[in-house]
Amino acid sequence: MGDLIVVLNAGSSSLKFTVYVDQGEKPGVLYDGQFEGILTEPRFKVKDSAGQVAAEKKWPPGKPLGHEGAVEALFAWGRDVLSSTDRIVAMGHRVVHGGLEYTRPTVVNAHILGDLERFVPLAPLHQPHNLAAIRIIAKRNPAIPQVACFDTSFHTTIPAVAQAFALPRKFTEQGVRRYGFHGLSYEYIASVLPGYDAKAAEGRTIVAHLGNGASLCAMKGLKSVACTLGFTAVEGLMMGTRCGALDPGVMLYLMDECGMDARAIEKLIYQESGLLGVSGISSDMRTLLTSPDPRAAEAVELFVYRITRELGSLAAALGGLDAIVFTAGIGENSAPIRKRVCRSAEWLGLQFDEKANEAGGPCISREGSRLKAWVIPTDEELMIALHTRQALSGKAG
Ligand code: AMP
Repeated sequence: MGDLIVVLNAGSSSLKFTVYVDQGEKPGVLYDGQFEGILTEPRFKVKDSAGQVAAEKKWPPGKPLGHEGAVEALFAWGRDVLSSTDRIVAMGHRVVHGGLEYTRPTVVNAHILGDLERFVPLAPLHQPHNLAAIRIIAKRNPAIPQVACFDTSFHTTIPAVAQAFALPRKFTEQGVRRYGFHGLSYEYIASVLPGYDAKAAEGRTIVAHLGNGASLCAMKGLKSVACTLGFTAVEGLMMGTRCGALDPGVMLYLMDECGMDARAIEKLIYQESGLLGVSGISSDMRTLLTSPDPRAAEAVELFVYRITRELGSLAAALGGLDAIVFTAGIGENSAPIRKRVCRSAEWLGLQFDEKANEAGGPCISREGSRLKAWVIPTDEELMIALHTRQALSGKAG
């Protein structure tokens, strides 16, 4: 093997990782794994490059690992499986928020790590955990360079008018504006789209990242010009547990009439709403699509309706549309959701190909369709590995 790049994505209760061997043009995956339930009942599972389970471990309930314990367990596993000639040359991290300042992947030092704390209030469910992983590794293995790759960077091309809220300008000046997220996913799609659809790559595309988090990104010539996610990662579409766009007056009502404070509302809109809140059953699309409960059907209907509305809004912002791309867990795997979204986009010139959709694409529009539709798997981890390598070699990321 040889030089390794480890990509980490640290969440509130999980630590996902991919180990790449830094070879040739494209780093190759050696292992891909995750720790889940690190605060409650930790589980660890890792697969090798052939997709075979390479290691699995469970900790008893009441023995939380926390982020520090998970990092420790990750390095312990690494010591067992990696050979003496393997060397971790860098760790690349997904960091949700880079604000206006961090527009490209950045080699992190103590000063930068401190500075990134400023964005914790803007992404309270992600940023603290992303930074915790960097801090733990900096303390444990200070010699390993670490690179932060931001979910906001891809969206710095969004024009001022599409970033602004209609608030007094002093708030805009202090950073209350639409940043957009899922940027690493959109950047990956932008990097491969020319290979699928050269016309759309030069023209106007809406990418639908539909996973547990969900958003749409409008691209012109592969550059982001609008995103449904905004100041925080709760805006826009309905998601697994996040409500998406909400009349701000609802917040006032919840405070005044329901006695809820900011923390209670935060929990409500980030963790208890979306597919989970509306169905009262699950945040998982697979569960809802197979449930006979009418509340599951209602949640799915609202999910599709919100996409349909935002799709129209972004198509208007783009002044027309050449292609729609579906990606992430739901976008890549759920033919019924793609079908419903595509049927509702027929007015935009889409001739939907039902058979191709059932087969998973990649092209799910009929030949001759004015608007093209695609299914393209995303790869945020590869994007981070590439950026990490580039940032360390001093090239633009
Ligand atoms: P992600 O956050 O990208 O991992 O996506 C997670 C979401 O994708 C969950 O809501 C899953 O239920 C959904 N998903 C994954 N596979 C399928 C599938 N075959 N059909 C429907 N939804 C799926």
